[in-house]
Amino acid sequence: TPAPSPPRAEIVVDLDAVRHNVATLRDAVGGRALMAVVKADGYGHGMTEVARAAREAGAEWLGVAVMEEALALRAAGDTGRVLTWLAVPGEDYRPAVAAAVDVTAYSVAELDEIRDAARELGTPARVQLKVDTGLSRGGSTEQDWPDLVLAAVEAERSGEVTVTGVWSHFACSDEPDHPANAAQEAVFRWAVELAERSGLTPEVRHLCNSAGALTRPSARFDLVRCGIALYGLSPVPEVSTSAELGLVPAMTVQGRFAMVKEVRAGSGVSYGHSYVTAHDTTLGVVPAGYGDGVPRHASSRAEVLAAGRRRTIAGRVCMDQFVLDLGDSDAQAGDPVVLFGPGDAGEPTAQDWAEACGTISYEIVTRIGGRMQRRYV
Ligand code: PLP
Repeated sequence: TPAPSPPRAEIVVDLDAVRHNVATLRDAVGGRALMAVVKADGYGHGMTEVARAAREAGAEWLGVAVMEEALALRAAGDTGRVLTWLAVPGEDYRPAVAAAVDVTAYSVAELDEIRDAARELGTPARVQLKVDTGLSRGGSTEQDWPDLVLAAVEAERSGEVTVTGVWSHFACSDEPDHPANAAQEAVFRWAVELAERSGLTPEVRHLCNSAGALTRPSARFDLVRCGIALYGLSPVPEVSTSAELGLVPAMTVQGRFAMVKEVRAGSGVSYGHSYVTAHDTTLGVVPAGYGDGVPRHASSRAEVLAAGRRRTIAGRVCMDQFVLDLGDSDAQAGDPVVLFGPGDAGEPTAQDWAEACGTISYEIVTRIGGRMQRRYV
């Protein structure tokens, strides 16, 4: 049989890097449990594959946003602790309770819905209570927290619920000196004390995401929830690079030229002719575009590694392709192009792309995909 033709464009995910990053994070937080956050298809890296690698490297918990994600982890064979944190009124909690997934309650109304599911199944639900300590997103307000705690105490007495955790989420942990961090930590301590004084005995109290875990030892409590660092990207890019943090980026996005051709000086390139060739030159057509999650905002901004050096995308990113000006290089159709990767072969990183596109590395890796195949190494 003929060798398979190399892919048009692909996402290569290095699961050794994920395992390495889990080990680095575990070392950094000394003895605390680690929750590997694998929501949104593992930030674009593949949820079940990353989850398996993270478990192998010792992650005690997996964290996902929504119940379908938790159930997909169970369907893929994961039997460990999994936490979800985003539901809407009327959500059917029964499959999650039956699958021993820990679910989060933000309010008494949500807790009541979880109790209904547990009663119907005759199985106690594992519930974690979330307090909003200052992000002003999901979670009980400080004012409502005493009522939620009382309702949880009552729910435990009924046997319908086991309160397994109390938690919250930082707003500004990527800026370690931001005063909101200390303020949130103080509110969280108050919320935990109130819960414990009221008779709850949560297994885990947790506040930190990757940035908090790496920069704020006083906030580590029993467990840290790490997403971006798991994938090897710095959660504090203005303070430390991923290499300085001992993290290895797990994702490389690469392709090969669909076509290479010579054009005259003065040729307008791609839609709108926002790039015009200054000299007679060689253009390379890269078969990946915004239909594959390459941000259109990368047009004339982001760099890729091709024909021996970094080159800025020439003109607009289209739905299926973009163009590079290769100057007098002797690149050929089929030659490789690396959009971003760990950076150790001279290619840009997802962080470089984020800066070029005016976003964060999270969005770059989570949105890439579309028609591209993922390959695990
Ligand atoms: N915890 C919660 C509740 C989250 O929503 C997220 C992701 O945004 C994380 C933890 C992980 O954050 P990070 O990727 O910054 O480590």
